[in-house]
This record gives sequence, structure tokens and C-alpha cells, in this order.
Amino acid sequence: MNHNDIRYPEQSEHSEALYERALRVLPSGNSRQTVFFRPFPIYAASGDGFRVVDVDGVERIDFINNYSALIHGHRPKRVMDAVADQLTRLTAVGLPTESEIALAELLVERLPGVEQVRFANSGTEAVMMAIKAARAYTRRPKIAKVEGTYHGSYDFAEVSQNPLPSEWGPADRPASAPNYEGQPPSTLADVVVLPWNNVPAARALLLEHASDLAGVLIDALPSRMAYVPVAADYLKMIRDTTREIGALFILDEVYSLRFGYHGAQGTLGVTPDLTSMGKIIGGGFPVGGIGGSRDVMSVFDVDKGRPRVPHGGTYNANPVTMVAGLESMKMLTPDAFDHLNRLGERMRQGLRECLKIAGRDGQARGQASFCLLSLYGEPITAYRDLMGAAKFVEAQAKLHRHLMNNGVFTSPTLSFTMSTPMTDREIDFTLEQVLTGLRAL
Ligand code: PMP
Repeated sequence: MNHNDIRYPEQSEHSEALYERALRVLPSGNSRQTVFFRPFPIYAASGDGFRVVDVDGVERIDFINNYSALIHGHRPKRVMDAVADQLTRLTAVGLPTESEIALAELLVERLPGVEQVRFANSGTEAVMMAIKAARAYTRRPKIAKVEGTYHGSYDFAEVSQNPLPSEWGPADRPASAPNYEGQPPSTLADVVVLPWNNVPAARALLLEHASDLAGVLIDALPSRMAYVPVAADYLKMIRDTTREIGALFILDEVYSLRFGYHGAQGTLGVTPDLTSMGKIIGGGFPVGGIGGSRDVMSVFDVDKGRPRVPHGGTYNANPVTMVAGLESMKMLTPDAFDHLNRLGERMRQGLRECLKIAGRDGQARGQASFCLLSLYGEPITAYRDLMGAAKFVEAQAKLHRHLMNNGVFTSPTLSFTMSTPMTDREIDFTLEQVLTGLRAL
């Protein structure tokens, strides 16, 4: 039997059974809300390169790549060899190892804003430690962040991540909205919410809070905002204004390191004071990283008594992640980035073509190796514009289902992230499936 004939959800026996079992012991059956979709998620069994196979034996091209982290797809041989070798020696230890120096050296060499690095286990932790570092360095409590941006689950970084229209406040002066029930009002009071790409309004807010502001947290290509890129004048204003008021510019590169060999900071020509990292630097294993100038990073120093920012973590810089990350990053040569970004462009162009042929409104969004298909035809310039896209959720869910049943694994938001083993063939195959799916809507 060709397992790719198995229809989701009707015939996905093993996934459905696992979901029912999971519901008894895991809320909504999972540990991560992004993996859930209705009526039940597909359970993964194995992966190889750009392919992922589910527990019913159905094979798909993986465009999620563990939410962009698996930049070389599943189990790249060089990374697996490095990990297998490491497993014969040491998995975790209460001592530093050479492996963390080697990965830090690579990041320092590539990223303009990074002279020193500290490792953690997730992007959430990286953002949290960057915020704490900015506070300790400036001895100020507040941070500023952009409305509708995702930076992980640290309380302060979560403010106004996904606010409802009733919580918005004025467009040029967004309110600080909670992200979970019972979120302490004190966390909201210490976060200044900025409107995206609105230079005068954001600058006025930064100046108003100047004496309390430790840092400004920015993602150059916010995924939850359908990839509205940072405008050059906004980026320049943030860089100049943070300098002027003595606050730190924190560039969250957990996602955007995929931009290119020198990260988004290299591509955009901006040098942040602090960089939060994650995802691709772990080579497929849990990771986070904080980087900055030697001066700023000295807040973590422990050799002069109590550190200004204590930083522990049982699995920080564990050697399995470190060797996987190093090998994976070494494989990311400038040519590899060219390949990824070219595939991303082919996908975006192809999706636009599909929409045109199918006579549908919509847009292909994203940059570099990030791509998103939206069936919403109106301009999206900031988070608030996304509300209009809500009426396309059902049509997108239908297209998602079609793709899942035709060999393509994407998210219900129709996000496509490239991996190095992919070629034009996988992109063109996917575009054919998108076109038939669009025609059937
Ligand atoms: N910051 C950004 C910009 C992210 O995209 C993410 C994860 N998608 C995070 C932080 C949090 O990273 P993690 O999931 O590893 O905690």
C-alpha cells in the first residue's frame, strides 16, 4: 500500500489513537500549542532530510522544519556524526567544555554585534537574559517592544503579543496588554509598546520613557505579523534613539539568523548592543544564546563577587547541543544561504503565480528562506491589519488539509520555511499542490 493514499483525518488511525491517549495526560494533548490543529494533529515518526513520515506511514515534504530551526532538514549526516561521536564521550556535565568555546567563536566571527556569548536552552531564555542584561547594564527597569510581536514566554517579552482590538488603545500609543490571565499589572507597567514602523510615534514614546528605559526589543521580520519587515528608517531611529537615551538595542535573532551568513544584523547593516539567538544555532537540539559587546556582557561576570546578572542553567551549553550547533553552522556557508534564499524567492514568486492562475486574492509574503501564503488580499503593514485576515481562516484550513493530503507538511497559517536539502523539484511539486488546492476552494 502507498501510505500517501491515507487520507487525513478519516484514515489517520494511529495519529487519532495517539491523540486520544495524549488527551488523558497532556492538556489538549500536547506540550506546545503550535503543534495543535483540528480535528487532531498528525503524530510524527521519523524524518530524513526534507522528508517527515508520520505514524501512519505517510511521507510529506517538511516546510515547518521545527518552526525554522531545522535549517538542514532532519538528521543531516555531518551533524549526526558529530553528535554520535560526542555521545561516546559526554552528554552533560557540571564543567565547561571546549565545545561551547568553539560555537561561541563561530558566532563572534559571524555576527557584527557579538563579541561574547552565553548559552541557554531556548529562545525564551535568551530573550529573558538579554532583557535582564540590559536592565543590569543601565540600572533601569523598563523595556520597549513592538505590538503584536512574538519573543517567547518571558512575562515582559509577552506583553501585547496578541492583543484583542478591545485592548489596543490608540494606534500611535498602543496599550500594554496582558498575554495570559492573571498577568501581573506590574509587568505591563514596565513595558512600553511601540507601533511598528511608525517612526515619529515610536520615537516620541522612547523619549517619554527615556530615563526608565533599559532596552528596546526588536525582531527584524516578525513572523506573527505575517512578516512585515522592519523599515530602514525605523531601524535607524531605534539604533540612534537608544544610543541617545542610553538604552540598549536588543535585536531578537532567534528567528532572523536565517537571513544570511551575518544574521539579519549583517544583512540590514545594523549593530545591536545585544542579540538573542536560538533555533538554528543548536543544530536540531534545544538551545538559546545571548551575545553582545564585551562591555555589556560583563554583567554576567562571576569573578568579581556577585554577578550583576546571575545566570545558571543545568543544561546550558551541553556538549551535545554545542557540537550539533557548531557542525550545523559550519555547513551554513554563504553558498548555503544563497541556495536557501533562492528557494524562498522561487516559492514566493510561484505562489503569486498560483494565486493569479487560480483567480484568487491573496499574497505571498516573507523574505530570505521564510515564506507565508495568505488568502487575504489587503495590505498588511502592522499587527492591527491582521484582523481582516481572520475571515480567511477556514479557507486556509481547507488548503492546509489539501496540502497535508498531498505530500506537503505546512502549518494552518500556510507557512513555508526552506531547508538546505530541498531543491527546485520540491518547490515546484509543492506549487502544483497549492494550485490544485486553490482551485478546489
Ligand atoms: N524570539 C523569536 C523571535 C522567536 O521566533 C521565538 C520562537 N519562535 C522565540 C523568541 C522563542 O524561542 P523558543 O521557542 O526557543 O523559546
